[in-house]
Amino acid sequence: MIKSYIFIVFVRELPKAEIHRHLDGSVRFETIVDLAKYHNLDLDAKSDEELKAKTKITEPMSDLTAVLNSFRTTQKILCSYEAIKRVTFENVEVAYRDGVKLLELRFAPAFISEGKSIRNDEIIEGVLDGLSREMEKYPIHAGVIGILPRTFSFEKNVQVTDDLIHYRKSAYKNADMLCGFDLADDEINTKPEDFAPLVERARQSGLGITRSTRLDRFSLKPVQQSGKQIRGSILQVRGAVTLSLLTAVGDKLQKPLFF
Ligand SMILES: [Zn+2]
Repeated sequence: MIKSYIFIVFVRELPKAEIHRHLDGSVRFETIVDLAKYHNLDLDAKSDEELKAKTKITEPMSDLTAVLNSFRTTQKILCSYEAIKRVTFENVEVAYRDGVKLLELRFAPAFISEGKSIRNDEIIEGVLDGLSREMEKYPIHAGVIGILPRTFSFEKNVQVTDDLIHYRKSAYKNADMLCGFDLADDEINTKPEDFAPLVERARQSGLGITRSTRLDRFSLKPVQQSGKQIRGSILQVRGAVTLSLLTAVGDKLQKPLFF
């Protein structure tokens, strides 16, 4: 027991690069309860235990559907600018206390707004303002990556891309922390080529393009688009290569320990 406690403390203290944390899936249990109460939301759970079972991930999940289902409850509580801001700064705070030195926080405005009246500008501003507040408090390098769920309508993804680019180019406080662009969810039944124009526009606006979720096809096999080749740009994972071992250790322990 003491041994495992020492191990946990040791791992927590190690400097880590966390390069794939989903904002929309990483919410403290107490925050879920608070925000549900405040916004009078029905989370379809009769007790705290039931709610914990729905929201807490303590072991590897079987497939993508299981992962996405676990996001459903946390998605519901991200229903206002204030809620998003709070969840963002709590993510930074938790990461800092975990020994994370570099944090890449990703969020999907199209997913967050699904079934709600919240607008993309409220979502993006909530994230940027939440980051700003914590960056003033904690010495941590953080950036956010806007992601497009592949299975959502193309029109919705175009709108999100436009809005992310708008903020990236704006004078909004800490707009430069909006540093990356990525695709998410079903990569088997969707074609990366369909997203090539959006990826190219994001890249031209200064957003880094990540290698994750097979987007690296763009760099391995350049796609023909409007007569010019899209060279898949690779997000600068800034130092993460040397820290990848530590990240892997952190990832294994992260969920049972902190959520
Ligand atoms: Zn992911």
